[in-house]
Amino acid sequence: MTAFIAPGATLGVMGGGQLGRMFVHAAQQMGYFTAVLDSDPASPAGLVAHHHIQTSYLDEQGLARLAERCAAITTEFENVPAAALKALATQCPVSPGAAAVAVCQDRAAEKRHFESCGVPCAAHAVIETAAQLDAVPDHLFPGILKTTRMGYDGKGQARVATRAELAAAWTALGGVSAVLEQRLPLEHEVSVIVVRSADGEIVHFPLQQNLHRDGILAVTQVPAPDVAPAVQRQAIDAAHRVADSLDYVGVLCVEFFVLQDGRLVANEMAPRPHNSGHYSVDACELSQFDLQVRAMTGAPLVAPRLHSPAVMLNLLGDLWFPADTSTPDTTREPDWARVLALPGVHLHLYGKTAPRPARKMGHLTVTAASASEAHRVALQVAAVLGLPAF
Ligand code: ATP
Ligand code: MG
Repeated sequence: MTAFIAPGATLGVMGGGQLGRMFVHAAQQMGYFTAVLDSDPASPAGLVAHHHIQTSYLDEQGLARLAERCAAITTEFENVPAAALKALATQCPVSPGAAAVAVCQDRAAEKRHFESCGVPCAAHAVIETAAQLDAVPDHLFPGILKTTRMGYDGKGQARVATRAELAAAWTALGGVSAVLEQRLPLEHEVSVIVVRSADGEIVHFPLQQNLHRDGILAVTQVPAPDVAPAVQRQAIDAAHRVADSLDYVGVLCVEFFVLQDGRLVANEMAPRPHNSGHYSVDACELSQFDLQVRAMTGAPLVAPRLHSPAVMLNLLGDLWFPADTSTPDTTREPDWARVLALPGVHLHLYGKTAPRPARKMGHLTVTAASASEAHRVALQVAAVLGLPAF
């Protein structure tokens, strides 16, 4: 058995975004001290942690200070350089480990990993040189070209219908390593979050049904209203296999597509808590952040029961820019008082002072005694905020 790191110790996190902030909250609730490494002096997690080391991810002194201070270190940002995690791991337990994170950072490696676990993914081709553009098979059109590294929230992607469009899009993306995926007929998007301990124990959250708008997660519903139990089981089993075969320690999210013919296809995975799991803070006995703390400290993992049906709405910076104004640069605060008057609303704002369109400023979870009631109230919230119905 892995040794248990008791409360009172300091836990570190690489990255200071909202995921780090919610990790810090969970760790502090359990009596741990916290340290964040992020170069941004106003980072959401840095603002609430006991210690904030303001250096870049590869700064040797910053890494040394973090490792010295912490009994264990995790990450909240999937593009933390694997070299930084490796350097930390020589001094202190780091979860997830550099090798697992490296697979998740590279779309081509990620797809190879899915396939090696018997988990289907979209037909695709890897493009690293201009010559490979001509060798792409016809059946991948219409397709989506995605950079192999660093993509998120639909960035680093282009929809291409023809070879000419592919060549232009690849050049526009900078001629970097990319993956062309066949565009699939999606019925639904879902995700599964699993948590695995160093001893190989695994627990999972119920399957999340996710609605994206413009490539960004907009709504998560749990229980998933439209996904057959057999497909849910299949997704959960697949996520377990993916985590096991990476010898993964920590929180892992696997995103899937459910196709119109009912088939389940893995899209990508994130080696950290995930936006689609934020509802767990308010709707489950243990949140994804509680379990991140447990996994890294060697505490027992307990299956996180959903105690209330939930709908999560992402709050993007667009809400701060009213559509009906002649001065598009002025921002206004959304009408939180009207939203908070509705039953079962849990508002989470990340402490970001500068709203920008498409920037994740916060989220909101509606919990209720029934899924239909949670949906009904979430639609009321959406109406107040000027978000589309779903
Ligand atoms: P994230 O913010 O989740 O990391 P990302 O930028 O890495 O997003 P993906 O998850 O790969 O991008 O794609 C974003 C969205 O684009 C998906 O949620 C889905 O709606 C759509 N999409 C991606 N790949 C395909 C595909 N092969 N066929 C159809 N739609 C797709
Ligand atoms: Mg995605």
